Amino acid sequence: MTSAVIIVGAGPAGVGCALALRRAGVENVLVLEADTVGASFRSWPEQMRLITPSFHGNPFFQTDLNAITPDTSPADLFQKEHMSGDEYADYLQAVVLHFRLNLRENERVLQVLPESQGYSVETDKARHRANVVIWAGGEFSHPKHGAFRGAEHCAHSSVFRTWKDYQGEDVLIIGGYESGIDAACHLVHLGKKVLVLSSGKPWNVDHPDPSEILSPYTRERLVRAMQSHPGRLNLQENATVVSVDRLSGRYIVETADGEVFDSEHRPIAATGFQSALTPIKDLFAWEGSTPQFTEEDESTLHLGLYYTGPSLVQRESKFCFIYKFRARFGVIARSIARRLGYPEPDLEDDRRRGFLVDDLECCTDCECAVESQPEPLEAKS
Ligand SMILES: Cc1cc2nc3c(=O)[nH]c(=O)nc-3n(C[C@H](O)[C@H](O)[C@H](O)COP(=O)(O)OP(=O)(O)OC[C@H]3O[C@@H](n4cnc5c(N)ncnc54)[C@H](O)[C@@H]3O)c2cc1C
Repeated sequence: MTSAVIIVGAGPAGVGCALALRRAGVENVLVLEADTVGASFRSWPEQMRLITPSFHGNPFFQTDLNAITPDTSPADLFQKEHMSGDEYADYLQAVVLHFRLNLRENERVLQVLPESQGYSVETDKARHRANVVIWAGGEFSHPKHGAFRGAEHCAHSSVFRTWKDYQGEDVLIIGGYESGIDAACHLVHLGKKVLVLSSGKPWNVDHPDPSEILSPYTRERLVRAMQSHPGRLNLQENATVVSVDRLSGRYIVETADGEVFDSEHRPIAATGFQSALTPIKDLFAWEGSTPQFTEEDESTLHLGLYYTGPSLVQRESKFCFIYKFRARFGVIARSIARRLGYPEPDLEDDRRRGFLVDDLECCTDCECAVESQPEPLEAKS
């Protein structure tokens, strides 16, 4: 059967985009999900919380930062500011049920093949056809194992379901951004002694784009953890790891400056994730490691193949938070409505509520009028 649109993935990007299409009047949309709705969030460590705060300001045109539609709010659903992974997945599931989305769980897309008219979408259950495909497969299932030799000796931060599973008293974490510092804070509260090796010093840099620095939520927790457990959480800045070796039952970690650290237990690699486009990378043009998009978030090689989610890059800015990539739902929905010959959609409400930002200047100028002045954190260099 041919669908007008197939969306691959039922995380916030896929579900949110499906509902933007509905607001644009596009019918016959099918969402295919390899696992269950919000599966990535269900895999988070139990202690992890969304770093972006939720607050129900929707009626005042200040849509909850983690909402995927203009008229829903995780804060309103749970009366909480920082949701756990399970809670956020429950929110996504509630949205899917409320809006009766046409969605199939446990159906994994194996291949997307461009045809003369549209796309063939092959799954582990069937072969579908669609005029348009939106890839919303997410990054979480593609951990970056580190650009250093011996990375296989480390445990990636995404494999832990609870930090209580970490064996050992001393922990060495490679990577000092969100996941590394999140792990460090939880582990130190569990009584461990933690050393974080970071290539830069994200806890002490000033940048107007929140994607480039530690979130206020994480930095606050870091300060608290260092103050309440003096000497147990140590930060080593400008320590770019080049290799991890296993010698005499210990893990030997070397940095670009020739410094050597050793650990009795497997280091944790908090080295982030690959692009969400990895499974369909050949369908996109790349400049180095950056995928290229049209101004409407399509592949420049295959029109009608869109991407929504945190790997979107426009004007060198990453749309890596929910509030950032949802700003493009309206742009994608409008573009698809036009492509499929629907009447011009009225998405002015989406625009007012932050779901249709088509002026890309928004992502090139994040300057704040008043300079930030955080207390510097003590780290070894
Ligand atoms: C650890 C971590 C913490 C984060 N915290 C925040 C935060 O606090 N706030 C924020 O705004 N952002 C946060 N982010 C950014 C994050 O990327 C997004 O919030 C969000 O998960 C991205 O949504 P998504 O729908 O693109 O991907 P996902 O939520 O990963 O959803 C993708 C879905 O696609 C499915 N899928 C994958 N491949 C296939 C396939 N071949 N066939 C069918 N289905 C498939 C997966 O099972 C999954 O359900 C965080 C990211 C990570 C990794």
